[in-house]
Amino acid sequence: MIFELPILRFEQNALEPYISARTMEFHYGQVFHFHVNNVNRLVDEFNFVTASLLSIIQKKSGCPALFYNAAQVWNHAFYFEQLSPTPKIMPGGNLLLEINRSFGSVDEFKNEFDKASLSIFGSGNTWLSQKENGTLIITQELNAENPMTKNCKPLLVCDMWEHAYFIDYQCRRADYLSGFWKILDWDVIEKRFNN
Ligand code: MN
Repeated sequence: MIFELPILRFEQNALEPYISARTMEFHYGQVFHFHVNNVNRLVDEFNFVTASLLSIIQKKSGCPALFYNAAQVWNHAFYFEQLSPTPKIMPGGNLLLEINRSFGSVDEFKNEFDKASLSIFGSGNTWLSQKENGTLIITQELNAENPMTKNCKPLLVCDMWEHAYFIDYQCRRADYLSGFWKILDWDVIEKRFNN
């Protein structure tokens, strides 16, 4: 085993009522774990043994299943890492300046991000990332796609696959999103931005 399921920094029921323990058991404990196991199996099968997760994603070549599973491991680690039962609820510092410059205000950013999330057709993620020229951009990426493969630096992701919200919200994706903002830790996003 090369890749391991990252340890959560909170208990599986800590994000309630926004994300239930049942969703965490399923999404983190089963879906995420499934992708970790698949990556370990596939790197072995395709002799990618020395490759890092990042290099598999960036190369995007060879076995599509390996790319999908590696990207989903990376995407899920990124998603769960930014959630917290005691989040910093507003961005600050240079990130706040850049959000204001790119979107007008934090509220306008959230609005646009929600719109992009709600209009994803099928499975995918919504991303906030930074372009090479420094501007921030919101994108929809279907399935396991990641803005890194388009030379953007990912800052924030919302998992819009049904498995992320269906147990708790059924088709009420707007409610899932309003819960998401309540447990999103801007401290993590700021660190990513400043890194
Ligand atoms: Mn997911």
